[in-house]
Amino acid sequence: MSRYWSSLVDRLTPYVPGEQPQLANLVKLNTNENPYPPSSRVAAAIAAQLVDGGELLRLYPDPDAGLLKAAIAARFADCGIAAPQVFVGNGSDEVLAHVFMALLRQPLPILFPDITYSFYPVYCGLHDVAYATVALDDDFAIRVDDYAAANGGIIFPNPNAPTGCLLPLAAIASLAARHRQAVVVVDEAYVDFGGESAIALVNQHPNLLVVQTLSKAYSLAGLRVGYAVGHVDLIEALERVKNSFNSYPLDRLAIVGAVAAIADREHFETTRQAVIRSREALRGELLALAFEVLPSAANFVFVRHPRRDAAEIAAALRQRGIIVRYFKLPRIDQHLRITIGTDAQCASLIDALREILG
Ligand SMILES: *Cc1c(COP(=O)(O)O)cnc(C)c1O
Repeated sequence: MSRYWSSLVDRLTPYVPGEQPQLANLVKLNTNENPYPPSSRVAAAIAAQLVDGGELLRLYPDPDAGLLKAAIAARFADCGIAAPQVFVGNGSDEVLAHVFMALLRQPLPILFPDITYSFYPVYCGLHDVAYATVALDDDFAIRVDDYAAANGGIIFPNPNAPTGCLLPLAAIASLAARHRQAVVVVDEAYVDFGGESAIALVNQHPNLLVVQTLSKAYSLAGLRVGYAVGHVDLIEALERVKNSFNSYPLDRLAIVGAVAAIADREHFETTRQAVIRSREALRGELLALAFEVLPSAANFVFVRHPRRDAAEIAAALRQRGIIVRYFKLPRIDQHLRITIGTDAQCASLIDALREILG
């Protein structure tokens, strides 16, 4: 601790992101990035913003990112979503940070699964939110009946991370209906790889907020765009925090790039189907190597070998230039989370594992 730190900073335990080593020929399967490039319309839209030597960058962007909100509302028009029901932020991590401060900072503790996105407890620390964890069942599934305790809100990813397990939409509807006094937040970073979005439910449940990102299914982790969809009252709470924090979280390039990506439905469909196909093929090959593989609705698989130590497998893969994610945490310290790469990357992974397992 430095004498200049606030006591809050001294108490923080920051999130540790998956590493981003700058090594050539690395097979990077540790942070759930999409292995395919984004729509070519993204670079074209960004290039169009940069005409005349980038003269437009002289000006602040639209603080409301109106074009992007309209594009997101149009994307979910079949769910009856209008632009004032959309909040946008600098990646869904920023959106989530605002959610914790604006909606989840309540007298009662909030609830989330014991095995989940490890950023949630970090936001609780930053925003002074009390929480309790609810154990996943033995199959790593969320059981909505276990969330019966009085609470100040509930948050979980669907599909969950790092397990990849999906909770059906009916279970989310029942959870939101049973907890009308509190906000239920569904973090859908991976939903496009195998789930149905709860955005279809937000107009029936004024306490349901759905958060999505362009980082995974749209191959735009580097652009930093995320959003939340819900009742206008929930969105207004987020806008109040955002406008007390940073008026321009999305820059000009991010706004036009995100709009272009969302407009290209065909690219989105092709890429996500390719990832889903590779995931199912990889699952089969891992099962053949005696791994236990949880059924995944995400762009990663969560696996465990019954006879080999997970940390040792991760280290041996790393020596062969392949990085996967290992969490030294209770209940999952014998598991590995492996991002779905291209078919060539998946083949390298399987070759390496075959060698390591002997
Ligand atoms: C990747 C991820 C996010 C963050 O995505 P960004 O939009 O890149 O900030 C949020 N929630 C979960 C569960 C994730 O895995």
